[in-house]
Order: sequence, then structure tokens, then C-alpha cells
Amino acid sequence: MTKFSDLALDPRVLQAVEEAGYETPTPIQEQAIPPALEGRDVLGIAQTGTGKTASFVLPMVTLLGQGRARARMPRSLVLAPTRELAAQVAENFDTYAKHTKLTKALLIGGVSFGEQDKLIDRGVDVLIATPGRLLDHFERGKLMLNGVQIMVVDEADRMLDMGFIPDIERIFQLTPKTRQTLFFSATMAPEIERITKTFLKDPAKVEVARQATASLTIEQKLIQFTPTRKDRSFTEKRAVLRALITAEGESCTNAIVFCNRKMDVDVVSKSLKAHGFNASPIHGDLDQSVRTRTLDGFRDGSVHLLIASDVAARGLDIPAVSHVFNFDVPSHPEDYVHRIGRTGRAGRLGKAYTIATPNDDKYLGAIESLVKMPIPRGSLPEGFALEDAADAPSDAPRGERSGSGSSRSRSSRGGSSSRERDARPAREEKQVVVAEAVEPRAEPRAEPRSEPRNEPCSEPRAPRSEPWRDDRRDGARDGNRDYNRDRRDPARDRRDGVVGMGDHVPDFILRSFKIATVTADDPEETPANGTEG
Ligand code: AMP
Repeated sequence: MTKFSDLALDPRVLQAVEEAGYETPTPIQEQAIPPALEGRDVLGIAQTGTGKTASFVLPMVTLLGQGRARARMPRSLVLAPTRELAAQVAENFDTYAKHTKLTKALLIGGVSFGEQDKLIDRGVDVLIATPGRLLDHFERGKLMLNGVQIMVVDEADRMLDMGFIPDIERIFQLTPKTRQTLFFSATMAPEIERITKTFLKDPAKVEVARQATASLTIEQKLIQFTPTRKDRSFTEKRAVLRALITAEGESCTNAIVFCNRKMDVDVVSKSLKAHGFNASPIHGDLDQSVRTRTLDGFRDGSVHLLIASDVAARGLDIPAVSHVFNFDVPSHPEDYVHRIGRTGRAGRLGKAYTIATPNDDKYLGAIESLVKMPIPRGSLPEGFALEDAADAPSDAPRGERSGSGSSRSRSSRGGSSSRERDARPAREEKQVVVAEAVEPRAEPRAEPRSEPRNEPCSEPRAPRSEPWRDDRRDGARDGNRDYNRDRRDPARDRRDGVVGMGDHVPDFILRSFKIATVTADDPEETPANGTEG
């Protein structure tokens, strides 16, 4: 068996690897490191979770060990499709280069140009960037790419999905022809093949088993149901999701819930929170600091349910999760394999549930032909009835699938560059136009940040006591405005509680005075609105 010490890596790198606790190289490392160290181009076909990041960072650190960086001329460049992936590569670099004096800069959206400029001005050995942000820096004249000796393209297939291929081609052209290229992709789509043929020179092709079949340690279940009404499909899917999570009880210690659209990621997350689940969303429109905090929380166990889009979750180094829930059947069959591969890792058992309605039949067919087996059919949890879901105090949180105008305006997208914004995959941008949504009242902030990892995913909080408000929101979600109007009864609000205070009404507010203190005609307009948990 190959050992790291057989791989001709710099002794400082070997020391860092040992300190990271790795005993033997993974297959992709074993195959990619030797040709990379010889200065050859490498075409690596490998997915995340295979150790592919170290397979390019370790030789890079070794090769860059000699020599010094010059101002504004990075010596190497790593391109990653998303900010999280770029940040993950940067973390890997910090780990493996800690005994060297190599420097790095991370160029991603959502971070001020000023700080990044300063680092580049000083000169860096390794520049890790998303393509859009890199070109933004280049166009501002702050960066020269003609000193790049090693260029890495990570997750090229995701770059393709995100529309980054033209940017990648441009960046290739801005770097010297003499550079060494290390190129990684999970799949070899024709467009990817074309790029590699154009820009790689006689690459060493290394491939680790493609995950076209799901691991045997993953128990898959397809939960199919027909919504009671077409316009209740989204509401009822949420109820099914809650029922599935609850039915898993303590065995569900942490889970990723995948949605196809980022606007649904938000809605599903808020809905779960409203029902007392410990959930947080992650998708490309969230501010970088929020995304980082959410991921940290998921890693340290203080967030149990991560509600994610494929793009946001792709490639993230997240510890094994006990469950994956596909809130939507993915429209790209490979995403099914990627999603469920988040559980059942390293020989552990995992469960992957997929919720489907008759509309999904076409996508299911594509998935089943990719994985070459039918997804085992499961049934709705015992005692669960869709009719109950329709009546249940439900969720449809603020802004739920509001009209296209509002969801677009919501997308101020925390400072991402125009290029990154424009390159979002089309399937995440689908807009669903339904009737104007009504804002719910504020949710109490309730998630403690440090619950132990083994807490079950379900129901840590007491259910709320104001079913009227939830009915109203479901009414809004399902486009029933008359229903909403009828429910906006201030006298009723006074009877049931104090509008805008969530579940925590200070004592003094409940005291009666001669003049009525609650006058808001529209409970939605109270100042406490808009505070989300
Ligand atoms: P990656 O595929 O690069 O996202 O890596 C997946 C995970 O494998 C990361 O948590 C790495 O820290 C870990 N890893 C990388 N190389 C090794 C190795 N040789 N032995 C054990 N774990 C590793």
C-alpha cells in the first residue's frame, strides 16, 4: 500500500499531513500526486469526498516551496465555482502549508475588494478564487495572471452548470501557455472534454470510481403522493417532510434537505423553523457571513437541518449526515446521486428520502435509469393523512413564493459580483408566480447555538398556540386572498393575543387600560414584523 512518504512530497507537507491525521493517501491522491509533482498536467475525474482537494493542494505546496511571490503576480491559481468551495480550498491550503512560508489570497464575492487588493499587492503564492471575482479584479487592473505557473480548475462540471465556462476559457488565455494545469471534474460532459482538449497538454488522466450507483449503506425511500389539490402541493410536501423527519425520531441526528429552487430553500427553512425544527437555509443569495455561520453551525451540531440548493451544497465538506431529504426530485439525475451521497459515508448507515408527486415522474425515470435500479418505494408515515396536513397549523412563512417582482427584488445578493449573479444556473432561477403572500408575524428567536450533535432533528420546541395565523398564511400561499381578508379580524386578534409580539408578550402590555391599546387594523403592519428566527 502506498504511503504519503512514498509520494516525494516536501517534508513540511508530509508533517502537515501527518498532523491532519491522514494515514494513507486516497486513490485520487495516490494517482494524481506523482504526475503533478513531475510537472505534468492532470485531468482528475473525481467527486467531492474522495480527497481530491489534497490531491492538488499537496503537490502545489511542494512545487511552490521554492521561489518567492511578486507583487500582483500570483504564482498559482485555484478556481472554484462557489465561494464556499473556494473557502474550503483555502482552509485546506492553510492546513497543508502551515509549515511553509507560502502565502495565499482568497478572492470571493461578498468580501470587500480593498482587503483582497492589499493581499494581492503584497504578492501571493496561491490565489484561490471564483471565476467572476477573479476577472473583476483583473479588469480593475489590480492583478496580473502572467506569473501563474500552476492553475487548478476544481469542480469543472459545476462551473459548466453555472455558466462559468466562458470565464474559465478567458482565464486560461490570460495565463502563460507554459503553466501546469490540474483540472478536476466529477463528470466529463462534452463541453468539459472540449475545454480539456483545448487547454491541457497530454494530461495524466486519473479517475476514481464514479458514483453512479449509490452506496450500499444508504437506505433509499421514495415517498410518492398525490396532492389533494394542485395548489396545495407545496404546502402538503412541507407537511410530508415534517412527518418524515418526525417519524425518524432520534435516528435523525442531522440532515440535509435539498430543494431545487433557492426561493424554496428559504420557504422550507422558515416553515420548518415555524414548526419548531432547528433548520437553517443555505443558498447563493445569502450573505457570505450568513452562509459561513450556517455551515459552521451545521458542522458543530448547533444546526440540525441544513436546507440547501444543489449549487450551495455541492462539494461542501460536511460531515456525514444521518439523513438526506429530497424535498424536490432533482431535475438533473446526477444530482440525486450527489445528494444522497451526503449520507451513508465511510461505512456508516444513512437514509435518503425523496418526496415526489406525479409531476416528478419524468425526473424519476431519468434517475432510475442512471442508477440502474428503481428507488425503493416507501409510504407516508403511519398516522399521517394529507387531509390533516391541509388543516394543520401550518407555515407558509413571510414572502413565500411571492410574485416574481418581490422575489427578484429580494435578490440584492449580498455583494456578489455581477458576473457571479448572472451565472446562476437557470434551474435555480425559476420563478413561481402565485398570489401576493401575507407577512406573518415575527417568530420568536429560539435556536440555542450549541445543542449537542445527537439531538434528534425533530421538534425541539413547543408548538405554537395560534392556529389562526398559520391558516391565514397557508391561505396566502395557496392564493386565497378572500380567505386572508376574512381572517384579518382585529377584534379576534385582541382576543387571541397581542399582535406582533410572537409568543413572548411582556406583562405590561397585557394590562388593560381605558383606551384600547391595540389599534392596528392590519396585524401584518406591526413593527415587530420581519424578524426571522
Ligand atoms: P475532498 O474530497 O477534498 O472534499 O475531501 C474530503 C474529506 O477527506 C476532507 O474532510 C479531507 O480532510 C479528508 N481527507 C483528504 N485526504 C484524506 C486522507 N488521505 N485520509 C483521510 N481523510 C482525508
